[in-house]
Amino acid sequence: MSSPHAVVSEEAGEVRRFWSGLGLPGLIDVHTHFMPERVLHKVWDYFDANGPLTGGLEWPITYRKEEAERIALLRGFGVRAFTSMLYPHKPGMARWLNDWAADFARRAPDCLHTATLYPEPGVETYVRRALEAGARVFKAHVQVGAYDPADERLRQTWGLLAEAGVPVVMHCGSGPAPGKHTGTEPIARVLARHPKLRLIVAHMGMPEYEEFLDLAERYDQVRLDTTMAFTDFSEDFMPFPRRALPRLADLGERILLGTDFPNIPYPYLHQLQVLERLGLGPAWLRAVCHDNAADLFSL
Ligand SMILES: [Zn+2]
Repeated sequence: MSSPHAVVSEEAGEVRRFWSGLGLPGLIDVHTHFMPERVLHKVWDYFDANGPLTGGLEWPITYRKEEAERIALLRGFGVRAFTSMLYPHKPGMARWLNDWAADFARRAPDCLHTATLYPEPGVETYVRRALEAGARVFKAHVQVGAYDPADERLRQTWGLLAEAGVPVVMHCGSGPAPGKHTGTEPIARVLARHPKLRLIVAHMGMPEYEEFLDLAERYDQVRLDTTMAFTDFSEDFMPFPRRALPRLADLGERILLGTDFPNIPYPYLHQLQVLERLGLGPAWLRAVCHDNAADLFSL
């Protein structure tokens, strides 16, 4: 019997074999969650209780560990850069989360300084401040935040981010459960106004994969992250349509590795293996698992 510690090391070895086999210097994961401990524990409690936004699914968290250990795990996997995706579910929270994330990026220099926003008075000011403080990526959660991304109060802010060329990872698809403003229609209204916005559609837009691929084909600054897509877990109830695989191949320069670490109900390695089993080849995998994000973030 191996100890839990040995199991983790064994997984790290397999993850490292995956990227070294592709000739990569490591992985870049644009969708990992780090947030203040008590917020993260609330998120975990929510998954434990199968809250409505989890789609009522059994969702055991694989990497329920202390922060230092979670960082060490990513480094053990050879993740060269990652993010601290965090998001408010109500007004008055984003500024505080942004302060925490700035401090986290100082403590973990391999984390791309992340910030968030919410449609509320003052949003443009604190977003501008976060940019000045060095934020390199934003997270917006349309499902949990339950707001319309095309809300007038965000108009200037999207313009600011588009001009700065700072990417926004947005959970705007309707998986695992739809929200009032999920789906392509609301975000398409934002892109019509701000076509240069560097939108990264989280989870490949699941389950509206094809509609979000349409958006990426229409706007050359729209990208998609792989977070949880193609995994056995997601394929069970939100399968990626096989007929869309050629479009995935064609958009290879705009797909970025994301995982949802640590809040995933399977090992990290599984996300990598399912990308490989798509059969799109090593050049595609190199771009998705490292090079596209390295270009986007000048790493
Ligand atoms: Zn996530």
